[in-house]
Amino acid sequence: MSENPKVYHLLPHSKTFSYGSGLMGKFESFLKDFDLAAYVPRDSVVPVKMHLGNRGAFRTIRPAFVRAAVDAVKRVPAVPFVTDSARIPACEYLNVAMEAGYTHLTLGAPVVIADGMFGNDSIKVHAGETLGEMAIASAIHDATAMVVLTHVKGHIQAVLGGALKNVSMGGISNHPRGGDWHQGRGKMHFLMGDLMEWDAEKCILCQDCMNVCPAECITFPDDVYTVDKKKCWRCGRCARICPVEAISVPTTHEQFMRAVAEGARAVLSTFEPKRVVYVSFLLEMQPECDCMPLADPPIAQDQGILISDDPVAIDTATLDLLSRTVPLPESRAASVTPKEGWDLFSLLHRKDGRLLLREAEKLGLGRCAYDLEVVG
Ligand code: SF4
Ligand code: SF4
Repeated sequence: MSENPKVYHLLPHSKTFSYGSGLMGKFESFLKDFDLAAYVPRDSVVPVKMHLGNRGAFRTIRPAFVRAAVDAVKRVPAVPFVTDSARIPACEYLNVAMEAGYTHLTLGAPVVIADGMFGNDSIKVHAGETLGEMAIASAIHDATAMVVLTHVKGHIQAVLGGALKNVSMGGISNHPRGGDWHQGRGKMHFLMGDLMEWDAEKCILCQDCMNVCPAECITFPDDVYTVDKKKCWRCGRCARICPVEAISVPTTHEQFMRAVAEGARAVLSTFEPKRVVYVSFLLEMQPECDCMPLADPPIAQDQGILISDDPVAIDTATLDLLSRTVPLPESRAASVTPKEGWDLFSLLHRKDGRLLLREAEKLGLGRCAYDLEVVG
């Protein structure tokens, strides 16, 4: 018998026009049969971790899917809450969540910020040689089990916004109480320096960076990009949004991938083995992160839903599917040149997305080899 982790694949196609034949029906039916109680202790309080999006980013996980996951946790029986760490000021983030349809009423569970209303409610954990100590959001750190819902998308640095990145970037606080960004998720972007570099010759003064900054710390006195060092979260959004790549963060692809893997290890080290279940939605896949203030045409046709208890296996299966599919016309990926073994996100962002998976496997977070079981 294979020792590879199993990845279930719920196909997006329906054979008939009945509810049970659609992806929603298949997801509910899968969760009813799935032994979630093997991972989630009875009566435990369980974070259902997801990215809550951003204003304008309307292609995130549909609330009905989140509700189905919440209901599955309740059937254990256990007590779910839907959560993410504060990616933007917490009150603003909760308003974004509400506008996207993520509320207690719609999901059947409270929506809370995992590291509190000031983004600093966290516990420091040793992550590894690259990152040192990282501040893990307390509502995740203190939980016994977790369900991770990931809207699969691209990311200019991580290449794949998959389960590993969701756990790593989203499980770590912006900064610890009394500390600063050096123990927060921003450190992953800033391993070789403490501020972005700006290329005045490239800059077209569009001010997109200023508008996207969650800390409101960018100004342009005399048309010069200027950052308040003390206020900056080191989130890297200004660099990601810049249309002409005038801003760069001080790290390399290799360092960044190693850091994200270490961050995921730090977060997952707060759980006993086999306490986390991953559900990845390969639906309306975006070229960039859900923290961008917009939604773009999906880069590929919907591939369905993957479910596994191994974050490396589920992300590998994701990239494998995206290596076999063609880009959607008129999407940002439409003009990429296919390359044997390369997935659409790696082609789009011109970096090897599998590097993160190899780093995570080296750290013992899971396995790149997996057995796929196709459901419906
Ligand atoms: S987003 Fe880029 S081009 Fe636009 S103002 Fe900022 S640095 Fe300049
Ligand atoms: S990294 Fe850029 S977007 Fe993020 S807080 Fe600092 S200046 Fe603002």
